[in-house]
Amino acid sequence: NSSQYIGPEKILQKKQDYIIPCVYHFYNEPMQLVKGEMQYLYDHTGKQYLDCFAGVSVVNCGHCNPEITKAICDQVQTLQHTCTIYLTENIVNLAERLAQITPGRLQKTFFCSSGTEANEGAALLASIYTGKQEFISLRQGLHGRTKLTMSLTGLSLWRTDTNPVGGISFAPNAYCYRCPYGKRHPECDLACANEIEGIIKTATSGQVAAFFAEPIQGNGGIITPPPGYFKRVKEILNKYNILLIIDEVQTGFGRTGKMFAIEHYGVEPDIMTMAKALGNGVPVGAFTSRPEIADTYTRPGASTLGGNPVTSAAALATLDVIAKNNLPARAAELGKYLKRGLTELQKKHPLIGDIRGHGLMLGAELVNPDKSPAAQQLDTILEQMKDRGFLFGKNGPDRNVMAFQPPLVITREDLDNLLNNLADVLAHIA
Ligand code: PMP
Repeated sequence: NSSQYIGPEKILQKKQDYIIPCVYHFYNEPMQLVKGEMQYLYDHTGKQYLDCFAGVSVVNCGHCNPEITKAICDQVQTLQHTCTIYLTENIVNLAERLAQITPGRLQKTFFCSSGTEANEGAALLASIYTGKQEFISLRQGLHGRTKLTMSLTGLSLWRTDTNPVGGISFAPNAYCYRCPYGKRHPECDLACANEIEGIIKTATSGQVAAFFAEPIQGNGGIITPPPGYFKRVKEILNKYNILLIIDEVQTGFGRTGKMFAIEHYGVEPDIMTMAKALGNGVPVGAFTSRPEIADTYTRPGASTLGGNPVTSAAALATLDVIAKNNLPARAAELGKYLKRGLTELQKKHPLIGDIRGHGLMLGAELVNPDKSPAAQQLDTILEQMKDRGFLFGKNGPDRNVMAFQPPLVITREDLDNLLNNLADVLAHIA
């Protein structure tokens, strides 16, 4: 019954009146979403949508996953909040579980409420441990909305024009489709990684605490560094005693076919940050490190809501669901299937210039015949696919990359529907 909802027009009006306009939305004619059920969303008229964006890599276990919902409800009815000044058990159980599933020696965790906060905290820890204040990050990367994390964000679309924090240098991206050196992998010998040494020597004071990177850039356009990239980066960083901070906020928890995307590269980060899918929709953020580093952060540093009994219960249930259903393996398998389908479409449509990503984090970059970004076409496709009941993202600095990041509980049949409808829509795009 749609009359119980205020509807998209009223929402847009109130949004204009009461929400700060940086909070933008998709679509010329947006819908009001009122219900979620695993891989499906429903609008106020009852229309169903296949969600292929998962609230941007958040609901990996599906919307309102019953096991997670039950864990949240049980905890909400028992003990909601205490602050970490008192002892509760969910927080330590969750930290122990993360130590078991994160790479290598990563073991001690700090909990907060968002990806931004996790990265802010990771930067602080790196400075405390190394005694150094500078950072290097990647062009086209995205790390958050606070002064420091936005300054670490190389993606200009997400950098508000304000005086950025100093002491941050940007390294060229491992963007093979538009290689900054005009080279090809592997003949390039990872020129983009090698350049980091030049940057350390010439663009910094030498006092670099850490290098920040997403293992696969999400908002940057599903930029997927070639094999060997992070190994080479780590070798260079080790030479200069610079920590590697890996931002798994968008890539973590099975999304790319492994529990964490950095596992594709066989590299152990010094600090790793997480958020989004860790809570499957409740606000959880975290950064984790090995004891040698983590134990240098001893001054009081509580987060009022970080590690809260309810959010920790949600995260514990999320990790259970991921393990029980082997969602990383499912993402790997279904991701291959979707990639194959997209590659078939690419053969018919030169508009699709490049397909990249791992597991269920796939991007298709749309280009004009001269390889310039085809952003307008993507807007048209996005709108028409929404009308047909399919939601996905648009990423990249020029917003010309279709981003597919569905809940990992999606099925082959859902993907067939997506691909068939996309084929229809592409057939009618100039
Ligand atoms: N890092 C990455 C890689 C992200 O994609 C995002 C959000 N898009 C953030 C950090 C910031 O996370 P949050 O919005 O939870 O603060």
